[in-house]
Amino acid sequence: MNMKSVIIIIFLAVFNLLLIVIPNTSGFKNFIGNSKGFSGCISCGDTWNWKKSHSTDYGPVESASEKYQITIQSGCHPMCEECWASSTPEERLPHYMKLVDRWEEDFLEEDVESETKKKQMERYEQKRKWIKAAVLNGR
Ligand SMILES: [Zn+2]
Repeated sequence: MNMKSVIIIIFLAVFNLLLIVIPNTSGFKNFIGNSKGFSGCISCGDTWNWKKSHSTDYGPVESASEKYQITIQSGCHPMCEECWASSTPEERLPHYMKLVDRWEEDFLEEDVESETKKKQMERYEQKRKWIKAAVLNGR
């Protein structure tokens, strides 16, 4: 084998390795997630196209239908399962509050009457209390 073929073989080996390694890096998967508009974990930034989120139920359980015994409860998922599992409730809380901040910011960008705005802000305040209670309860 001459020197030229050795270089080509090494080049192809490295190139193939990169084709396998790069798509499996979190950076690449987050790049794909971001480009597709996925949101992600507020703690580590990994996107929901590949990372499993931790769901937290909060607030009262409401009955949607007495007849069929359907209940609904609000839920949110600002953190991935990994970040959630490796932190304490106190460490998680700021991430959850940041999520409510984002809801508020998104809502305030909408063009709504001041009365509607006031009511919605009160609703977010209530959600903060419910979420805080749920998070500190380890949910
Ligand atoms: Zn995370």
